[in-house]
Amino acid sequence: VVSGGASDGGGAGAGEFSVTVLGCSGSYPGAGAPSTGYLVRHGATAVWLDAGAGTFAELQRHVEVADLTAVVLTHAHVDHWADLAQLRTVLRYFRPDLAGLAVYGTAATHDLAAHLVGGTLDDAFAWTTITADSAVVTGSLRWSFSLTDHPVETLAVRADTPDDRSFGFSADTGPGWSPVGLGPGLDLFLCEASLDDADADIVAHLTGRQAGAGARAAGVGRLVITHVLPGLDGEVHRGDAEHAFGAPVALAAPGATYPI
Ligand SMILES: [Zn+2]
Ligand SMILES: [Zn+2]
Repeated sequence: VVSGGASDGGGAGAGEFSVTVLGCSGSYPGAGAPSTGYLVRHGATAVWLDAGAGTFAELQRHVEVADLTAVVLTHAHVDHWADLAQLRTVLRYFRPDLAGLAVYGTAATHDLAAHLVGGTLDDAFAWTTITADSAVVTGSLRWSFSLTDHPVETLAVRADTPDDRSFGFSADTGPGWSPVGLGPGLDLFLCEASLDDADADIVAHLTGRQAGAGARAAGVGRLVITHVLPGLDGEVHRGDAEHAFGAPVALAAPGATYPI
């Protein structure tokens, strides 16, 4: 894990592919711990992947709003998109020259976000509704999706570079989904591990053990677990994941950057 990234202020160099954790607190923010959000960068391409509360503040440590290529939102649960409303404020009232930024999300996410800001997102964003069958290109990254096991339409995501490096993110899911659904050869996989073993299977989320077993079945290169619920000991989840995965596993932390 390389913390902070090597490119503050200058944008990633050509060909550099990385994921930075903006927030990773499961389901709601913890003390000093934003909800879910990541910055996915490849060269000059910068994508804000999920926009949970607190992640817009963290995003701006790493990239200028003007340099964002797109926003990708995995599902309608508020811990994955609340700060889109804050970005809309910037584009609507302070930087109208940046209005029309590409945003990709599910139909329900669009409707909830539009409602939150008073009716429309069209004054700030160019919204595209996505489903599990969508194929999206943002700058130099190609995105594909897989429907997970979660109470609302939720899309796990995969991003591929032109030179065939790949990143996957489970979004939120229960054990009824497998990362095999994202296709083979994931170099880096960020997988939710919300629950401890005592709570396995009571809600549509994964334990560390389930995250590790799924990643092993999918043959991913490196596994990072995330979305641990506030109050639980992520190190225990990491250890469970590592045991099931059969190789070292990292626990996501705000500010950490993972080169791919
Ligand atoms: Zn969540
Ligand atoms: Zn969710």
